[in-house]
Amino acid sequence: MIVAKFGGSSVRDAQSMRNCAQIIERNPDMVLVILSATYNTTNELDFLFSSFLDKGHSPELQNLTNDLILRHRNLAQELLGNSCAPLEDLFSEFVSFIEQWGVKTKEKKEKNRDFTLSFGERFSTTLFFSYLSTLKSLKNRNLKFIKSYDYLKTDSSFGAAKFKANSLNSFAKEVFEKNNLYVAQGYIGSDDLGYITTLGREGSDYSAALFAEAISADEVIIWTDVAGVFSCDPRISSKAQVIDHLSYAQASAMAKFGAKVLYPETMAPLINKKIKLWVKCTKVPEVLGTLISDQSCSEIGGYAVCIEKRADGALLTHLGQGIKKLDFPIIDENVQDHFIRYYIPLKDIESVVDQILS
Ligand code: ADP
Ligand code: ASP
Ligand code: MG
Repeated sequence: MIVAKFGGSSVRDAQSMRNCAQIIERNPDMVLVILSATYNTTNELDFLFSSFLDKGHSPELQNLTNDLILRHRNLAQELLGNSCAPLEDLFSEFVSFIEQWGVKTKEKKEKNRDFTLSFGERFSTTLFFSYLSTLKSLKNRNLKFIKSYDYLKTDSSFGAAKFKANSLNSFAKEVFEKNNLYVAQGYIGSDDLGYITTLGREGSDYSAALFAEAISADEVIIWTDVAGVFSCDPRISSKAQVIDHLSYAQASAMAKFGAKVLYPETMAPLINKKIKLWVKCTKVPEVLGTLISDQSCSEIGGYAVCIEKRADGALLTHLGQGIKKLDFPIIDENVQDHFIRYYIPLKDIESVVDQILS
C-alpha cells in the first residue's frame, strides 16, 4: 500500500493535475492521495488575511478573493469542461466567511487565520477529486473523498498544531478499506472543539506520513518538482546531485537544517513501522528519486549542504562524516551527528557550496 503526496507545484495548473492523475492511474497500489493547496494559494490566503487585519475590508482584498476563486474556477473548466458544484459550494462558504470577518476575527486571530488557510487544501482536493471521478481508468478504484480534519486531531496551537497520537486510528480502523482510493487534504486537522488547525507551513508531507503510519502503509511517495533529495538545493548550485539513499535520521537532519523538499517532522511517524519514503518528481515519474529508509546512506564523507538564508547572511550546514572544515565562523558542530554549521555572507553562498560539492 502506497500513500502519495502531491505538493503545490505538482498541482499548479490543469496539465500538472493531469500528470498527477496519470501517476495515480499507473499505480494501483496507491490507496491514499494527500494534496497540498495549488501553487502559492496558501501564501495568497495568508496575505489576504493579514491585509484584512491591517486595513479591514478593502477593494484590494475583494480583488484578491475574486482572483483566487477565478483561478480555481478556470482549473475546473479546463479539467471538467464545466463548473464543479462542490467547488462552487466551497467558494460560497469562503466568500461568506470573508464577509463576516470583523472584530471577532481580530480577537481570535490565529484560529481564523487557520480556517482561512484551510481553504487552499479544501479547494484543491475538491477539484482534484471531481477530476479523478471523471476518469474511466479509475472507474474500478472506488474513489472516496475524505476531510482530513474529521480524523486528524491536533491540539489548539493554531498555526503549528501538534498531532494527537493515535487520533488517526479511527480512520484506519473504522473507515479505511484497502481496495478504495482516498483523496484527502494535507496540512490541516482539527482540535478537540472541532476548529480547523494547520500543522505548520509545508506540513502536507507530515500529513502523508501520519496517515501512512495509521494505515500501516508500505511506502510514502512525496511527489514534488525536483527529482529527489539533492546534495544541496538544486536552485542554489548546479553541482547538486540526487542522493539515492538516506536514512530517516539523515533526511530529518537535512530537513531541519533547511532542505525545504521535506517537512522536518515527516520521518518521525515512519520509523517504527519502517515505512519507506520516496521523493520523486511529478514531471519525470520514471526517474527513481531518493529512497529514505532505516538503512544508512553508504557514502563516506560529506553528503549534503543545507542553506538557511537570513537577512544579513546564511546558515550553511555541512553534513557528513570526516568533512573538511571551512574557513568561516562555526556556529555549531556535532561530531556524533556529523554536521558543522557556519555563518557565511550571502554573497559567498554559491561559491562556498560549489567548493564543497566539487
Ligand atoms: P512542494 O510544493 O512539492 O511541497 P517544495 O517547494 O516544498 O515543494 O519543495 C521542493 C523544493 O525544495 C525544490 O524546488 C527545491 O528548490 C527545494 N530544496 C531545498 N533543498 C533541497 C534539497 N536538498 N533537495 C531537493 N530540493 C531542495
Ligand atoms: N499548502 C501548505 C503550504 O503551502 C502546506 C503544504 O503545501 O505542504 O504551506
Ligand atoms: Mg513542500
